[in-house]
Amino acid sequence: MCSIIGYEGRGEAAPLLVKGLQRMEYRGYDSAGVAILSQREISVRKGVGKVSEVNALVHMDELRGEVGIGHTRWATHGGVTEANAHPHLSNSGQIALVHNGIVTNYIELREELRSKGFSFNSQTDTEVIVNLLQLNFEETRDVKTAMMRTVATLKGNYSFAAVFPDGTLAAARFHEPLIVGISRDGYLVASDILGFVEQTDKVIYLDNREIITMKDGGQVICDFDGKPVRHELIRVSNEIADADKGEYVHYTLKEIFEQPASILRTAEKIAPEVARAAEMIESAKNLYITGSGSSFHAALVGKYLLSKFGGLNIEAIMASEAEFSPHHLDSESVMIAISQSGETADVLEAANWAKEKGARIISIVNKTSSSLAQMSSLTIGLGCGPEIGVAATKSFTSQLVVLYTIAGLLSGGTLSPRFDNLSRQMSEVLDNQTKIKALAEKLTGLSDIYILGMGANYSIASEAALKIKELAYVHAEALPGGELKHGPLALLDSNSYVVFLNPSDSTYSNVMTSAHEVKARGAKIIGISNRPSEIYDYWINLPSTEAEMFPLVEMIPMQLLAYYLAIHRNANPDYPRNLAKSVTVK
Ligand code: GLU
Repeated sequence: MCSIIGYEGRGEAAPLLVKGLQRMEYRGYDSAGVAILSQREISVRKGVGKVSEVNALVHMDELRGEVGIGHTRWATHGGVTEANAHPHLSNSGQIALVHNGIVTNYIELREELRSKGFSFNSQTDTEVIVNLLQLNFEETRDVKTAMMRTVATLKGNYSFAAVFPDGTLAAARFHEPLIVGISRDGYLVASDILGFVEQTDKVIYLDNREIITMKDGGQVICDFDGKPVRHELIRVSNEIADADKGEYVHYTLKEIFEQPASILRTAEKIAPEVARAAEMIESAKNLYITGSGSSFHAALVGKYLLSKFGGLNIEAIMASEAEFSPHHLDSESVMIAISQSGETADVLEAANWAKEKGARIISIVNKTSSSLAQMSSLTIGLGCGPEIGVAATKSFTSQLVVLYTIAGLLSGGTLSPRFDNLSRQMSEVLDNQTKIKALAEKLTGLSDIYILGMGANYSIASEAALKIKELAYVHAEALPGGELKHGPLALLDSNSYVVFLNPSDSTYSNVMTSAHEVKARGAKIIGISNRPSEIYDYWINLPSTEAEMFPLVEMIPMQLLAYYLAIHRNANPDYPRNLAKSVTVK
């Protein structure tokens, strides 16, 4: 969830590390820090807050030295305090370490280390790793052996990078991402390519259970048992250039506005894979679809489309609930697993669970080098470019593009999505943003908001509610129209606001009935619809499109509403509190 970075070379480490941390900050951002080695002495500067805030206070980027590590934290063990911020130093002060993930047996390890005279300055699970490294390095005087001995005792999921007194930068990967970059003047390791995108496009993807040591312009990779490993050097062309905010104030806004183009990029890119996916799906005896958060909402739309247009029996399972779900998984089953990062721990676990039972996995990911992609029989890459905003926007609509395309292939001609039209319609909604901005301002003081929809629009209502919770910290609840009278109506009075996703599709007249029920209780009605109606207190006009395609279009005003609500409520939409983008812990 956090990001780690390391540099060993001939340049100044600190400025590179700080820049890299800023680029990866979407991964976690409650504290930040760097450690730099110079003349065999390690200096640490760290603090609570975002990278820019910590840097303004302690000037991390001004440390001098050519080997160093850096971290942005998403706390799992111990509060958000300076003492718990990484890097952590070993008791001797000679080894510094940054860590992403969790050490599950840290309590036993800490006791063992205490009995050997070690003491601890933080509440993190991380500090045991750096002290184990010290113990093992003192016993062996060899970095590789110290790393191997240390990883042999750790349980959990982790990647870490450490600086040793002899100038070695060493790193290990176990179920958390870690990528090596090779630049003109040295080596870098980072949790994401974005960490070193300005230095190099030459990378090595480390596998699980691998250790790398870098020193004096050379590197050695081995597995956890010490066996040497050779890796191909890969050149990443990537659309990494779009990892800048450009003219936009926030990444989230930029990514919302990219959607007319990004859905087309996805639609163009996926052709060969979706055809194979359609074959696999059609021949499956049992079919499941899973995801977490926004990806789960995409899965719900996928379930709707594949059953309606493909005539298939498909079950949607929330990834975190998979292991508790009754199922009929076997070698004739297929699971479609959706995750933007492809590193989401809950989704990986659900996919592993299905795979163990013999099922084949089709993954839909934005990062095709991810762990989920690697374990799948077939991977469909979204190709929508890096998504930096923590809340999913363009990756969600691209996931829908994939699912619509597969459903179209299986529909026998009854569904033929025209993404070029959709792209234009999305642009029309975006051009209309001043109206949504003004509405958001009106709603700024609300503590609750309801979003009602039926059919596939209910899944969009769920995604819209999630956006509003994540970005604006307002309690938002999705309501399936017909269920209103079975309970939620009791909550509504003249102070309530209900957003109606009400396109002119098959749900229209039922949703209108719900609107009348709400109006009769005095609540205010916001209509998101291509048809005007007197019942709406506020109307956000949707362009007309084919009935089945409305979910993709109506998502846009809801993203904008969540974004502007966040702005009016002084929340930073790019970095929602308590969240991180790639949720690699359970
Ligand atoms: N478990 C470590 C901590 O709580 C690392 C968390 C992270 O991945 O940021 O500090």
